[in-house]
Amino acid sequence: MRIIPCPKDFTKKDGSFLFDAETGFSCDYENVINSISSFLKTCGIGWRMGDDIKFTSDGSDSSSEAYTLVVGEDGIKVSAKSERGLFYGAQTLKQLILSSFDEKTKTAEIPCCEINDEPRFSYRGYMFDTVRHFFPVEVVKKYIEAISLLKLNVFHWHLSDDQGWRVQIDKYPRLTEHGSMRRETCGDKKPHGGFYTKEQIKDVVEFAKERFITVIPEFDIPGHTRAAVSSYPELGCSKKPVEVSTKFGIHSEILCAGKEESYDFVKGVLREFAEMFPSKYIHIGGDEAVKHEWYKCKDCQKKMKELGLRNEEELQAYFTEKAVEYLKSLNKTTICWNESANSGKLESSVILQFWSDGKDNENVIREVKNGRKIIVSKFNPYYLDYPYPMHSLKAAYEFEPVFHGIEGYEQNVLGVESTLWTEWIDNTDLLAFRVFPRLTAVAESAWCDKSKKDYLAFENSLKNVNKLIENTTGIKAAPLKDCNVKNPLKRAAIMMKFGMNLIDFEMIARSNRAAKEMKKMRSVRKKENNGK
Ligand SMILES: [Zn+2]
Repeated sequence: MRIIPCPKDFTKKDGSFLFDAETGFSCDYENVINSISSFLKTCGIGWRMGDDIKFTSDGSDSSSEAYTLVVGEDGIKVSAKSERGLFYGAQTLKQLILSSFDEKTKTAEIPCCEINDEPRFSYRGYMFDTVRHFFPVEVVKKYIEAISLLKLNVFHWHLSDDQGWRVQIDKYPRLTEHGSMRRETCGDKKPHGGFYTKEQIKDVVEFAKERFITVIPEFDIPGHTRAAVSSYPELGCSKKPVEVSTKFGIHSEILCAGKEESYDFVKGVLREFAEMFPSKYIHIGGDEAVKHEWYKCKDCQKKMKELGLRNEEELQAYFTEKAVEYLKSLNKTTICWNESANSGKLESSVILQFWSDGKDNENVIREVKNGRKIIVSKFNPYYLDYPYPMHSLKAAYEFEPVFHGIEGYEQNVLGVESTLWTEWIDNTDLLAFRVFPRLTAVAESAWCDKSKKDYLAFENSLKNVNKLIENTTGIKAAPLKDCNVKNPLKRAAIMMKFGMNLIDFEMIARSNRAAKEMKKMRSVRKKENNGK
């Protein structure tokens, strides 16, 4: 039996400790007691006071994530410098008990051992997109509970996009009154929507905090903003009314970077985000902002001239900088998707979340070498919404976050995060199937050193962790046979079914038209410039 994520040091010793319903605990920390109690409940046992299992901390370093766990024949001792460390020790203890737990006798024989543990990375995240499909607070909480069992410490919450606005903003009520609902989804003729009230957000943030998880909200700008533009058409370049998008893919209706209203809007929303979320980080997206409308917009072009900017990429850099500066004034650090660094002008404190490959790869490597901090969320294999034949469990496990090109710059890798987008996930069964056990594999890379990683050992212990997650949250992981599909016919069938989602002829035609128009405009500009 192996603990997942694998501890830093594990020494097996002779003998064992017999755990039973009479075993007593001593602990002064409420969050640790609650975590253990709810686990015992799933085993059909109540919490008892006693000296058999002791949790102690000198409280000397509240940010420390390290802990020591010693199993002796007459008792178990968990010690740490912080309650956070004890909480992680408690998660390890749960796996130790569960691995030999006998349901009938309510006993477990835990082999004597000493564990000295601490994480490799300080940022260990999971991202949940509750825009493309809305999921209620109960589901959000279940996932927060589940990731706490894996010692992850960040819940990145994607709350705004083209297909909906999902959080109450008092200054801009139409965002939820109008922008939280779409007419239909890809032609299904069924309205879809929902949003979280400030009261609910507060509840989720508190729930996460009790599990030592920081909630980082994302307000994606300047692209992925059609729901906002639909709510307030004056924020768009054309000011024409558009509906909350009923389709997926990339949209050209983005916030106008030439009008002051847009900057006021961004500030207004960020201010309320900062009030709702105590996290020191706020995510402002920055991905997939097509500049088609900026190219045509008088206001955007005027702004570029005023500022002496050479192109629309630099206009996005300016737009981002404004948001970053504002967040700084609120004592917050900005996180952006990696495209935001393509201009080469991104403010140095901004943390880059690396997801996309290709040309962007070079830009990210350049940034890391120049000292930029990054979070690694590489599309392949960390995007959890893709089927297993594309991003297998084994690939997710084996991927090394300090990837080729940035070796020697590990100090600039803040950590890892796996993302779950919900374009094609509209129910909790499929959600569970796609997230687990892949996220468990990523959690191992987030926590344990690469020298400790061993796929077969991981696979052999997965059952225990899957059971822990299911008993605690009801979330059922995909069976192992579906996680590394080898049969080529089965792979092809799964991929074909998934691929059908992506074929949208109207969308393809629209992007082709946009690309042609953009090319034409570029060549006109080039001619004009040459004429000067
Ligand atoms: Zn504009």
